[in-house]
Amino acid sequence: MRRLLFLALFPLLLNAAYVEHFKWPKDESFLVFLERNNLPQSIYYDMDKEDQKLAEEIRAGFLCQKLLNDYGEIEQILIPISDELQLHVFQKTQGNYRVEPIPIIYDETRHETLSIEIQSNPSIDIKKATGSYRVASIFSNAFKKSLDFTALQKGDKLVMIYDQKYRFGKPYGMPILQVAMIEIRNKYHYMYLGPDDNYYNEKGAQVDSFLLGSPIPNARISSKFTKRRFHPILKRWRAHLGIDYAARSGTPIRSAGNGRIISAGYSRGYGNVTKIRHSGGYVTLYAHQKSFRRGFKRGKTVKKGQVIGYVGSTGMSSGPHLHFGLYKNGRAINPAGVIKVTTAKLRGKKRREFLQIKKEMDALVAMHLNTITVPEPFEDFDAACYLDAKTLKPLTLAAAKDGNEAL
Ligand SMILES: [Zn+2]
Repeated sequence: MRRLLFLALFPLLLNAAYVEHFKWPKDESFLVFLERNNLPQSIYYDMDKEDQKLAEEIRAGFLCQKLLNDYGEIEQILIPISDELQLHVFQKTQGNYRVEPIPIIYDETRHETLSIEIQSNPSIDIKKATGSYRVASIFSNAFKKSLDFTALQKGDKLVMIYDQKYRFGKPYGMPILQVAMIEIRNKYHYMYLGPDDNYYNEKGAQVDSFLLGSPIPNARISSKFTKRRFHPILKRWRAHLGIDYAARSGTPIRSAGNGRIISAGYSRGYGNVTKIRHSGGYVTLYAHQKSFRRGFKRGKTVKKGQVIGYVGSTGMSSGPHLHFGLYKNGRAINPAGVIKVTTAKLRGKKRREFLQIKKEMDALVAMHLNTITVPEPFEDFDAACYLDAKTLKPLTLAAAKDGNEAL
């Protein structure tokens, strides 16, 4: 059983001794990580360009695993770069390490239902019922701009149905809201995940008010966003966590929204790269710039449409283009659905698809409306990430540190 669990975690199992879980440290590059772990820098330099760019997607706080042998030497490392793909560092032969992107395997995706009555406010009540800040945040993000929660009364109903991925029996990644309903003064308000991954109210109007402008208006898209795909010729997993715009060197790059520059500097993969934080947990990234606009550095507030830099080919780039990335709560998302000129209303085929989704979701909400339903609560990662090797039950962090053989 124990061996099976190891196999599930690490695809190439050698002489496994134990697994160490760790969170990716703040401000640590892949190269610095290798150095700190006494691993050869050649691991990085032997990676191909695309994989080197993926290494820049590693974010502080990402949950990683290290497999160590009986002598405490690193056998394998798993580092997620998105919720779909991870970098797998492994020893090909003794002392000879390689990196390969591989898919993240989930135990399952659960469709969870939450149906409660308001006691204080939605965020507090959802957190209390589920134990999860993330579930609370997907609810408040969905309604934030369109509803006034101060009018809520005790006993008003709240229903939400969402998908949650599980890994090793624990929730993993952001849950995805399918439908949410909240009663305010005897009136029911709904929010549905539409056929295009945007949120719509019961009238089919898009209410997610975070709408980006194009960083280069009218530019041709030369490469689309893909979370993961298998390259049939290279026989490798690939991801492209952004959109590439083809444009001449020197073309102005515009901020996609109002926000504040959180970094503007050089990185090996993305070259001259600017990151801008916007409201609602969004960050945009503009890579391979020829140069930054003068004065547009860390800390500067920018307006939507303002020029921040110029198209170039710095970093791992085969020609002038802009790599544009969008992140929500640290997770790469497809910018295509968010770049809109005006607030969208669904039409034609998409509207018919939406009405079908709405019908099914309304039926589900109605079914759960009058029954209090709470998903199984879970313990936080830190408290239960170690399993006892014999019983396979979670150990507390303290017990694990006490030298119990943990997995
Ligand atoms: Zn790109």
